Amino acid sequence: MDWNSVDDSSFRAHIAEFVRAHCPRELRFPKRRLRLAEVRDWYKALSNAEMLAPAWPARYGGMGLNPSKTLVYLEAMEASGAPRLPDQGIINLGPLLIKHGTEQQRAYYLPRILSAEHIWCQGYSEPNAGSDLASLRTTAVLDGDEYVVNGQKIWTTWAYDATHIFALVRTDAGVAKQAGISFLMLDLAQPGITVRPIETLMGHAEFCEVFFDNARTSKSNLVGEPNQGWTVAKALLGFERIWAGSPRQAQQLLGQLRQYVMQAELQHSATVLDRLTQFEFDVADLQACYARFAVVVGRGEPLGADVSILKVWATETCQRIAEYFVEVAGDLATIQGDVAFAGGTVDVLTPYLDSRSFTIYGGSSEIQRNILAKSVLNLPV
Ligand SMILES: Cc1cc2nc3c(=O)[nH]c(=O)nc-3n(C[C@H](O)[C@H](O)[C@H](O)COP(=O)(O)OP(=O)(O)OC[C@H]3O[C@@H](n4cnc5c(N)ncnc54)[C@H](O)[C@@H]3O)c2cc1C
Repeated sequence: MDWNSVDDSSFRAHIAEFVRAHCPRELRFPKRRLRLAEVRDWYKALSNAEMLAPAWPARYGGMGLNPSKTLVYLEAMEASGAPRLPDQGIINLGPLLIKHGTEQQRAYYLPRILSAEHIWCQGYSEPNAGSDLASLRTTAVLDGDEYVVNGQKIWTTWAYDATHIFALVRTDAGVAKQAGISFLMLDLAQPGITVRPIETLMGHAEFCEVFFDNARTSKSNLVGEPNQGWTVAKALLGFERIWAGSPRQAQQLLGQLRQYVMQAELQHSATVLDRLTQFEFDVADLQACYARFAVVVGRGEPLGADVSILKVWATETCQRIAEYFVEVAGDLATIQGDVAFAGGTVDVLTPYLDSRSFTIYGGSSEIQRNILAKSVLNLPV
């Protein structure tokens, strides 16, 4: 099937229909990241229909979509409420192996990602290496045909459900910090690895600490050349830079706020109306900004440093709306989860708590502003 030749609206309709037919209603528009056990059947349904890996080439079991169609795929999935899968293997490792891996690595790992036999998590951040990732201290030392890994990762999303981890590790401490890093794949099911969940503000154990105590992996699980891990990992920073700026979450949140304002009959308050109108403009600006970058992606061109504005605007708009929702909802905002209101339910606190993390992951707002200051505005930073 050459999906790229299908027009965008038919393609959107196909995805929407597929979600309706194969993704149970109770899984759609989830308020938290769902566990593997909850989404495994949906993962398999996508895999069986060869619709799991939009951007992988068809010869590796992907849909072979061009960047513009991949964006349409992601938008349509999000608009239909399809839950996010434990997708590090699909969106990060798979494309990386296709670009930098060996034929043996591709032949072994890619089919196992598609079949859900292997679920991957991303082990980059460490307790003192987040924004300054190149300061990471987890070491890997070659011992015969195996690397021996020692250290700790943190904020590893979905590690408790994962079977494998791809990690950045220090293989040479005697050179400039970015130069001594390698990209390694490890099986989590071994005595040298401990995974400990961390409970979030929302009360869910969404991410974990991962401890390596003489953990082992074959040297054939090194991706790229030794000490070239920084370059390999940076090659991943393509698509997610625009995806982090999708207007969808802000649109949904604004819809919920608008509905609440009408139900609570607050639309006659000039103050409320003023704020609501401001948010409408903010979300419209976000949509326009996103559309501008989507055109660049559609042309197959690389995104420039200016895409940082998109992440800042998308995530901070969500936070502003969520904060105002709490302010205007009074007592209703004191309880997490659905609260009875106006013959239905409203959940004010969950989006507020959820939106706290948006400005941290994928490069914090401060880091994005540093990039804009340095690379776009040419300010002396
Ligand atoms: C929901 C969520 C999921 C995540 N999933 C993963 C995952 O799966 N795998 C993974 O490896 N990591 C993951 N992370 C970690 C994420 O990448 C880091 O939290 C992020 O890089 C920030 O690092 P840090 O938490 O160490 O904060 P720090 O880097 O310690 O920053 C603390 C504060 O200082 C500010 N700051 C830092 N440096 C500067 C500077 N130079 N100039 C100005 N301000 C600065 C930051 O903006 C921030 O406000 C996740 C994080 C979240 C919130």
